This record gives sequence, C-alpha cells and structure tokens, in this order.
Amino acid sequence: ESRLVDMQHQSEDAGAEVSLRPKRLTDYTGQPQVVEQLGLFIDAARGRGEALDHTLVAGPPGLGKTTLAHIVAHELGVGLRQTSGPVLERAGDLAAILTALEPRDVLFVDEIHRLPTVVEEVLYPALEDSQLDIVIGEGPAARSIKVDLPPFTLVGATTRAGLLSAPLRDRFGIVQRLNHYSVTDLAHIVERAAGLLGVGIDAAGAEAIARRGRGTPRLANRLLRRVRDYAEVRASGVITAEVAEHGLDLLAIDAGGLDAQDRRLLEVLVDKFDGGPVGVESLATALNEDRGTLEDVVEPFLIQQGYLQRTPRGRQATRRTLAMFDLPGGDGDLL
Ligand code: ADP
Repeated sequence: ESRLVDMQHQSEDAGAEVSLRPKRLTDYTGQPQVVEQLGLFIDAARGRGEALDHTLVAGPPGLGKTTLAHIVAHELGVGLRQTSGPVLERAGDLAAILTALEPRDVLFVDEIHRLPTVVEEVLYPALEDSQLDIVIGEGPAARSIKVDLPPFTLVGATTRAGLLSAPLRDRFGIVQRLNHYSVTDLAHIVERAAGLLGVGIDAAGAEAIARRGRGTPRLANRLLRRVRDYAEVRASGVITAEVAEHGLDLLAIDAGGLDAQDRRLLEVLVDKFDGGPVGVESLATALNEDRGTLEDVVEPFLIQQGYLQRTPRGRQATRRTLAMFDLPGGDGDLL
C-alpha cells in the first residue's frame, strides 16, 4: 500500500529543507473566490460534523491544487491520504486505500483524469453511496459483495478538466478552478516564502521575482531559492531588486517571465509557421514536445499574457509576439 499512498508532502519541495506550503486557508494567497467558497463549505461541513462534499480542483501545474487539498484536511481537522490517477492501476489498489480511510478523511487524487476506467468504476458507488462493490472469485463462482465505507471527501486535482469523464465530473459537489496569480499576489507569496527561508527581501526584490514567476507560485518559489543562493554568495544576503535582476539574468529568465521553453515555442511559431495559424499537433512535433505538455504547461501562460491565441484553425502569434521578434504587424508600443 505504501507504493500507492504518499503521506508526505514531498512532490513540490522535494529535497528542500523548508516546506513553503501554507497550512491554513488564511495563508493561501490570491484566488479570492476559491478561498471564500471553500472556506464557507468547510465551516458548514465542520459545523455539522460531516465530511465535506467531494471537491474537484482544476488548473495548470504549480498553482496550488495539492496545497489546497492539504489545507482542506487541516481545516477540517482530519487526515489526508494522497495518491494519483496513474498510480492506481487495478480496482483493488483503490479499494485498499478506501477501506483504510478514517471517517471524514480527505483522499487526494492528483491527476485524476488519468484514472484507468476499471478504477473509476470502483469510485462511482464509493462517491455516491459510500459503498464498495467488490467482485470476489472468477467465472461462475464469482460473486459481488458490498462493503460500507466511512464517509470521506475525495479531492481530485486535474490539469485537464476537459478530459474527465462526464459521470466522474458529475459526482463532484464542489468544483473550483485556479487561475494564474497576479504579480501582486505572487510578490506576497514570495515575501512570505522568503520569511520562511530566513532570507531578507524588500518589496522591489519580491516584485522582480514575481514578475518572472509566470503567474505560478511553484515557479516563483523556485526562482526565490535560486536568487537566495545568488544573494548569499555574490551579494550582501538581502534580496533587493538589483540582486534579484542579476540572479534571474543568470538563470536566463527574461523580464516578461518567459523561460527558454516559452521562447522556443514562440520562435518556432514565428519562424517555421509564419506566426500561424498552425495545428497544435504540428507545433508539438516541431518542438519535439508532447501535445499534452504544450496544452497544459506551456500554452496557458502564453495565452494569458497575450503572446499566443488559440483559434479554430490553430495556434496563432499575437501582435505582441510579432513585436517581440521585430516583425511587421507587431505593436512596438507594447514592449
Ligand atoms: P499543484 O498541486 O497545483 O501543482 P502545489 O499545491 O504543489 O501546486 O503548489 C506549489 C507550491 O506553490 C506550494 O508548495 C506552495 O509553496 C506554493 N503555493 C501554491 N499556491 C499558493 C498560495 N495560494 N499561496 C501561497 N503559496 C502557494
């Protein structure tokens, strides 16, 4: 079972000495609508002494889905079990986890859109009636038995809500979508993280890091750790705007927050496909990247920042992108 269940919060801060994950809803920066709604539902469930409704959290990687699941468990005062869609291969894998839950526990399933169908089918009665339907034996001797489960809360996380089967999606009472963070919110997250890491930072330093964080707390925190290294070794140890800029230049992150992968996508779009429109498959092939990664990880930020458009005929560069490459049609004023 230890292969299937991960009780640690290790995915993000792997190898790092301090966890930057907020543990309370009040420390969860940004996403005001999510925080307000979830806070209300959590209070209500706790007041009634019931399990929280099953909750689906959708959004690009690194925006705080796992963090939210941990916060939900913490605020409800219950345990959390963590697993992920691709790890659960057989029906029995999920059955083993479900039967080990304590009443009102949170079961966090990351990448829930990758659950195999056979496992998903075990989940339906569990979500609906807190029951397991297990088939024992094979052939004519096979029989089905029902096992009652304790009430529990499934928190499912997905980068691709569109890939969830309709019956699974319909079984979530609460659905929340996370958006990229504003620079102000990211700067706040960076300042808090700097406090936890014990490194001095001023407001301009936090903002400089936030600007290059692609609206993504995981990335902003990662940049902070690297800038801290730079500040400690090459500067006075305090992160000012200047220290942050120098440190980030060393990492080849440009001021718009675009990283090497972003720039490569835009370059290929402009150079090989004349700025588009081009189908996502062709783009993925040209980049030697898998389509899902492009759609989930690279594109959302570029679209949000106005560098890329998704049109019915394919991906297209915007005026902002053309301007970046000094091409006609670009709006030089934007840069
Ligand atoms: P996801 O599960 O969506 O990939 P995580 O929950 O692992 O993302 O978040 C990555 C990291 O970003 C967390 O460890 C945490 O340090 C930070 N983080 C995410 N969301 C927030 C937030 N709203 N406030 C503060 N820190 C956050």
